[in-house]
Amino acid sequence: MIDRAGMYAAFGIDSAVLSLGDGVLESLQERFRQIDERAEFNSLKVIRAMQEARVSEGCLQGSTGYGYGDTGRDTLEAVYAKVFGTEDALVRPQIVSGTHALNVAMSGNLRPGDTLLSLTGKPYDTLESVIGIRPAAGSLAEYGVAYLQADLKPDGSFDREAVERILEEDREKKIRMAAIQKSRGYQTRPTFSVNEIGEMIACVKALRPDIICMVDNCYGEFVERTEPSEHGADLIVGSLIKNPGGGLAPSGGYIAGKKEYVEQAAHRLTSPGLGKEVGASLQVLPSYYQGLFLAPTVTASALKGAVFAATLYEALRERSGMKVLAYPSADAERYDIIQALTFYQPAAVQAFCEGIQAAAPVDSFVKPEPWEMPGYDSKVIMAAGTFIGGSSIELSADGPMREPYSVFFQGGLTFPHATLGILKTVQTLSEYGIFDPKSIQ
Ligand SMILES: *Cc1c(COP(=O)(O)O)cnc(C)c1O
Repeated sequence: MIDRAGMYAAFGIDSAVLSLGDGVLESLQERFRQIDERAEFNSLKVIRAMQEARVSEGCLQGSTGYGYGDTGRDTLEAVYAKVFGTEDALVRPQIVSGTHALNVAMSGNLRPGDTLLSLTGKPYDTLESVIGIRPAAGSLAEYGVAYLQADLKPDGSFDREAVERILEEDREKKIRMAAIQKSRGYQTRPTFSVNEIGEMIACVKALRPDIICMVDNCYGEFVERTEPSEHGADLIVGSLIKNPGGGLAPSGGYIAGKKEYVEQAAHRLTSPGLGKEVGASLQVLPSYYQGLFLAPTVTASALKGAVFAATLYEALRERSGMKVLAYPSADAERYDIIQALTFYQPAAVQAFCEGIQAAAPVDSFVKPEPWEMPGYDSKVIMAAGTFIGGSSIELSADGPMREPYSVFFQGGLTFPHATLGILKTVQTLSEYGIFDPKSIQ
């Protein structure tokens, strides 16, 4: 009978790579126990919310047409509100992505003459068009919404003095919304914890309680025990093909927060006068409920994968002398599921992505190639053998082909899959000659 090492060998992973991985896994047991404890806590939170909202078998039926009286949809939104500790939520397949959810939340709550203030420096790339930092048709700028940005300090921390100065200078009280991005996205700054976000919000509210504080919560859900909405955020926003969809939601996004602001967003998403009352849930509800049910443990798998990758690559650097920088580092506390690895050479980025792709359940036979992407100034290589197109809660990696040659790696619906993918990246780097295989023998 084939044993465990034999199973890995069938994927082309040799015994030296496997035993390096096993040694690292052994050292991570306490870390993983803490991650599991958090998943347990968050799972209980989700189950309790479903019970309190009285989710029934009937809630799994979808609606068609206008979607009037869709109790499954309305109950799901009540569940999200309970999980996130908010008054209300909008959770819809008509929200096409995280960017769209953020656009709806912002444009629904801002009016001509208002100003949007970013508290965390430059926002996620796609939001530059939404805000109009990069001119784009239909941007907030085109509708007369101004934009101000408080940059982070050089070490990536919140610049309280800068924000206070901006608020004091806003004598006409034009600033209507403050935006906070939890995850660092593709930037090199730390991801913010819910506590740090709470401090930012308290800083704004102390001077200007009228400002709506909105958090881009993408990749942050269920990583901690609480969400930014439990630390003063008026609105939190995210994508269902990331953490809260649990890998099952085929598309969609959410906006949760104060009733008034969620309703404003709903009127923007559907139509003035219609708001949350319409919007057929079609066939998505079973996957939305079940995905949310699985989300805490799926997020934990992804988190373990990130910690394993950082620790394994640090061990490999130690053993082989290969140049690699893990960010966050192996020991760092985590507030999102993204792991960056900087390799300083393009061949390593290529090899890493090939390894992730080769471990995928779907399209494992495809070889990722660097490609020109709209909105990027260099070619980008992506590895994603996903069940849901572009889902980044599934094991995936991407890297812009430019200095310093970093890959951003995230997801993993199950930890065995994340493990396989990460071991396969090391194996592929070895075969590319990026480190000396003898160094790990
Ligand atoms: C993923 C992400 C978004 C939205 O991206 P979509 O691809 O449109 O879903 C926004 N902000 C951050 C920080 C993200 O990680």
